[in-house]
Amino acid sequence: MGDFLISGTAADGCLRIIGAETTAAVNRAQSIHHAAPTAAAALGRVLTGAILMAKELKNDADRLTLQVKGRGPIGGITAVSRISTRNGAAGNLDGIFVKGYAENPYADLPLRASDGKLDVGGIVGKGFLSVILDLGLKEPYTGSVPLLSGEIAEDLSYYYAVSKQVPAAVSFGVLIDRDLSIRKAGGFLLQLLPGAPDKLITELEARISSMPSVTTLLNAGASMENILEDIAAGYAPDLSSKIPCAYSCDCSRTRMEQALCSIGKEELRRILEEDHGAEICCHFCGMKYQFSEKELESLL
Ligand SMILES: [Zn+2]
Repeated sequence: MGDFLISGTAADGCLRIIGAETTAAVNRAQSIHHAAPTAAAALGRVLTGAILMAKELKNDADRLTLQVKGRGPIGGITAVSRISTRNGAAGNLDGIFVKGYAENPYADLPLRASDGKLDVGGIVGKGFLSVILDLGLKEPYTGSVPLLSGEIAEDLSYYYAVSKQVPAAVSFGVLIDRDLSIRKAGGFLLQLLPGAPDKLITELEARISSMPSVTTLLNAGASMENILEDIAAGYAPDLSSKIPCAYSCDCSRTRMEQALCSIGKEELRRILEEDHGAEICCHFCGMKYQFSEKELESLL
């Protein structure tokens, strides 16, 4: 079965619940980028985050970029999500697409001695998490927070608390098989809305910390619906929306031409004189675009 995003509310609308299974998308990213295990886990978490946040998008042209820039060996990690709507109508969400890359997908570290897990915080290092929400307005909305741990879920929950003043609980998991394929990937995002009882977040945090990780549960056969219903048990969860998600790049020759133009005429002229052509490789999907001498000239 393909990936999907489930969302709904609980506690009389005071709790927003969003969960996603992203195994296929993270596998697709892994096959494009040939990432080492720790880097695959880091990239998979950022991709999952961008999918979970895609509910903030309204129209097909909108984009959400989740960027984690640390000083660790993986460098920056970027994921971009977009949506498709039925008949282009805002609110009629019928698909979510994500793409992403890491500057150094070969970054890897030994399993962490303290808990035996992939050391995502170690390859990310200290730095910032940023969210750029481009809704087609004059200026995109940008929010940024320092990384707390580089483990990404904790950092994203800090982003919600600081940038959006919304208490949120975030959890991600990427379970990697021995052959380096992604066995399970997914995560959830719980947001408390105004009017939520104070004890709700404490109780949810206690439930989440006492349960096995998302990927352990998915791997044991639990569905994302089961996991979310268990977390919100007793608060009448209503998980009525289920939307398919997929890894998909929206690069095109036109976009690559725009990228070439954006480097400036002087630089373009230099490339023309020295290389007599250009090849641009899309960071997100690996597609190569060739530009002949003639084509470069036409851009000047
Ligand atoms: Zn591409």
